[in-house]
This record gives sequence, C-alpha cells and structure tokens, in this order.
Amino acid sequence: MNRADTNQVPPNQPQRFSSDLKLIPRWSVMLAVAALVGVQYLYWVVLPAHRHHPGPPIGMRVYFAITWSALAALYMLMIGYVSNDAPRRHMSAQIWMLICFVMPAGVGAVLYFLLRQPIISGCPACGTRIQSDYHFCPQCACQVSAACGNCYRSARPTDLFCVHCGHDLASDSMPERVRNSIS
Ligand SMILES: [Zn+2]
Ligand SMILES: [Zn+2]
Repeated sequence: MNRADTNQVPPNQPQRFSSDLKLIPRWSVMLAVAALVGVQYLYWVVLPAHRHHPGPPIGMRVYFAITWSALAALYMLMIGYVSNDAPRRHMSAQIWMLICFVMPAGVGAVLYFLLRQPIISGCPACGTRIQSDYHFCPQCACQVSAACGNCYRSARPTDLFCVHCGHDLASDSMPERVRNSIS
C-alpha cells in the first residue's frame, strides 16, 4: 500500500444513510403512500362535506393537508424501519412498533433512537454475539474491527498513524490492522 491509497475513502466505509433506507420494508412504503392519499382524501372530500361554516382560506388548507399527510406517511416509514432495525439489535420489534405507533407526535420514535442498543452481529471465528463497538471478540480474541496496536482505540484500515495516540500503525502486524478491510 502506498501513501496515495490513504487519501481514498476505504471501500468498506458503510454508507450509513442509504443502507439505513434499505431497512424500510416495502409494506411500510405502501402504507406511507396510502396514508398520503388517505389524508388528502379526508381533507379535500370528507371534511368539506361535514363542514357547516366556511373553512379556513385555501392556502391554509393546502398547508395543513400537506403537513398532516407527510407526517402520517413518515409515521408509516418509521414503523417499517423499526420493524427491521430492532431485531438486529436484539430488541423486540413488536413492542417498539407499538410504542412508535401509540406515542403521539413521534415521541415513540424519538424514544426508540435514544434507547436502541448497538447492532449485534456474530464473531466470524466463533459465532459469539458481538456489539458494533467491539474491537475483539470477548470469547476468542478474534479481531473484528481495525484498532490501534498501542491504545486499542478505533482506527481506519487505511490510516498510517493512530489519530488518538500517534502510534505508527504500520508497525502493527499487518493482518490484524487490515483484516476488517479485507473481509
Ligand atoms: Zn469469537
Ligand atoms: Zn492509538
């Protein structure tokens, strides 16, 4: 590896947002679209029929129709996201979907993001459950993410020196430092 390589983005750098978007299942997208259409229908067809006095000005009505339907759609996407995100953190999807659904004004979703556990995966060597912030497996010491050989804090596989202690990472044994970038 030469120095020019270190300026490039590591290929395994997770694309957080787009990979999170993939967690939204199709059924919740459908529900979101249905919510969009449903709220518009409610606003422009059902509500005017039951109104006995002249309603608010048209601009106001458009504003409310858009914001309420967007909120309803967001709710559906949120619940879909939780249904796929909770299991990979060993949290109950059903309970958290219910909490997100019943808590008003998105409080449930905020609670979920505050309280959710780190992503759990399996050790590639022994299968022990490991959290995303672990560097080594607690059972077999297999290195599961790149770390500085001096202070043992996180390092990117392409770094030459530790950003925390300045340790020369190239002097660490190469397989340990880059194992995460190869897998
Ligand atoms: Zn292990
Ligand atoms: Zn260090």
